[in-house]
Amino acid sequence: MTLPYAEPLVRLEPQPRVIPEPPRVGEPGGAPCSLCDWLADFEHSDHEKPIWYDDNWVLCRATGVTIPGVVWLASRSHHDSFADLPDELAQSYGPVVARIERAILGLGDIARVHVYRWGDGSAHFHVWLFPRPLGMLEAKREMLALWANVLPEAPKEVVADAEAKIAALLSAGPSAPA
Ligand SMILES: [Zn+2]
Repeated sequence: MTLPYAEPLVRLEPQPRVIPEPPRVGEPGGAPCSLCDWLADFEHSDHEKPIWYDDNWVLCRATGVTIPGVVWLASRSHHDSFADLPDELAQSYGPVVARIERAILGLGDIARVHVYRWGDGSAHFHVWLFPRPLGMLEAKREMLALWANVLPEAPKEVVADAEAKIAALLSAGPSAPA
C-alpha cells in the first residue's frame, strides 16, 4: 500500500492539544443535527430518499463519490457511538452491516469492504462502508480513504447504478450463508 502522494513527504509535529474540543454537529453547543431533521420526514416528503432503510437503520448516499459503492449507514434515532446504542440497535448492527457488505460485494470486482467509524464530524451514529477495488493493492488499509479523497469523481450515473444495485440486493432480503 502506498500514499497517493509522491515522496518526499515531510512529517509534521503534532499540534498543541485543543481542550475542550469544539462541539460537533448534533451535540450540546454544536450545530443542530441535520440528519435528525432529514430522518424525521424523509418518508413523507420530497427530500432525497436513502438507498435503503428499515425501522432502525438508514443507508445513505455519499456526495462527491470517487469509488462507486461508497455508502454510509446511520441509526434512525440519535445516538453518538457504539457505547450509546440501545441494545436493540446494537444487536441489529452486525446483521445489517453483514447484509450491506454482501450487497456491496455483489457489485463485483471488489476485494474487500472497509467499515469506518470516525465520529469526529457528527455526533449522530454513522459508519462508512468503502469498497476496496479488486487489485488496487496500493489502497489497502487506511490508504483507501486517502485514495478516495484524491481520485476523480466517478460519473454520477455509475454511482447511481451502484447504489441501485445495492438497494436491489438489500431489498431481496437477508442472505446469510447457510
Ligand atoms: Zn441526530
